[in-house]
Amino acid sequence: MSIHERNRAWNALQNGTKRIAIGARSAVFAPVQNLGLIVVDEEHDSSYKQVDPAPRYHAREVAIMRAFKSQAVVIMGSATPSMTSLYASQKNKSTMVTLSKRHKGATLPKVHALDLKQYRGAMQEPLAVPLYEAIHEALKAGEQVILLQNRRGFSSYIQCEDCGQMPECPNCSVSLTYHKKKQQLRCHYCGYSSKIPHYCEWCSSHELQKKGTGTQQIEEQINKLFPKAAVFRMDRDTTAARNSHEQILGRFDRGEIDILLGTQLVAKGLDFPNVTVVGVINADTELAFPSFRAGERMYQLLSQVAGRSGRADKAGKVYLQTWQSDHYAIRCAKEHDHRTFSRHEMNHRKMLDYPPYTRLISFQFKAKDSQRVAKVAHIFTRCLQEIANSRPVLGPSPSTIVKMQGWIRWECLVKMETEAPAGVIEHFLDQVFELYDSKKPKGASTVRINVNVDALE
Ligand SMILES: [Zn+2]
Ligand SMILES: [Zn+2]
Repeated sequence: MSIHERNRAWNALQNGTKRIAIGARSAVFAPVQNLGLIVVDEEHDSSYKQVDPAPRYHAREVAIMRAFKSQAVVIMGSATPSMTSLYASQKNKSTMVTLSKRHKGATLPKVHALDLKQYRGAMQEPLAVPLYEAIHEALKAGEQVILLQNRRGFSSYIQCEDCGQMPECPNCSVSLTYHKKKQQLRCHYCGYSSKIPHYCEWCSSHELQKKGTGTQQIEEQINKLFPKAAVFRMDRDTTAARNSHEQILGRFDRGEIDILLGTQLVAKGLDFPNVTVVGVINADTELAFPSFRAGERMYQLLSQVAGRSGRADKAGKVYLQTWQSDHYAIRCAKEHDHRTFSRHEMNHRKMLDYPPYTRLISFQFKAKDSQRVAKVAHIFTRCLQEIANSRPVLGPSPSTIVKMQGWIRWECLVKMETEAPAGVIEHFLDQVFELYDSKKPKGASTVRINVNVDALE
């Protein structure tokens, strides 16, 4: 919307001539009069959290507070509810209502997990034979294909090609990120680092491979494999211009594109009746992302992708390529079994003291000068530890992407008790900053400190 359109819409809601506001995250603040209902669709979607710039709020939490204040109802919709929302329903803060039938009685597609360990040496790069053949058949029948390569292609990791495991941080149990320059593995939560191991700590194999391929390389390979097909890559590079996202999807809908290769953009709320094959080229990239939410994200992504195929009368097939076909997120996505997945995921979170069993507050330090930012991060973290008492503090450590647009970034985290109300957190933060003010080094004002309560990563 242009600023004028926005202004008109805002006024129409404010004076009551319009009574329904539809929009993305910030629509939760729309000046609707006499509010009765807020619907948060796809409530698990991480884009409901605004991270940069401030205010760092979660639209789902705002919706709940706003509804509470005006005695309205909130409906949160999702096929893959977040652990946060499930936890709330377990604590009787909300009521779960289950839809047990698919729209128009459509059947769920058959999901095949292709274990890449079995197809080693029998690959049509980057596709395992069954996926290659399914694409071939679909193209012959004039049907369309969606191939998904994860957005996380930029983060590199190490994976054992015999057992599929990836090295994890011994303190945080998140995947370690591979740093090419220093030839080391690093934990982005606590700063733990190690040399690249020579063998796999799970199965002792020496088949450790460095991973992390971008969409561009895959596009070239797909073009070579299917020279007659119209292949289009849809990612941040090709959708940067305004409306280009809609234009690409319009072309796909009209059948001008045979194979759409994309990032998670493709997985969101699309409905193409002529798509009969959906392939996820590397389902493991999401798991490799160094976050305690990696499993949840992976499950959500795979479920959404699976829902893209076979929505109309034609039966759809979904192929997930993975080195970890035994991983619970893959197993449950394959069976469309959210209940088992969430039970597993909740246990995991509880065991490792991650949300929703704790509240994470993250601090990010940003400056142009790398030494200064590191120094401030260390001093601040010591203050945090002092005030935190027995609460766990992780870090400081350089951010996953240390340097961005000339800014050097460091982080640290504190875990707060899950029932901590806003007032307690506010008081806690005040104390930390007060102590830091008395200890901060010269030149500290050139370092920006961002606080993120209920940080997602
Ligand atoms: Zn192994
Ligand atoms: Zn760690």
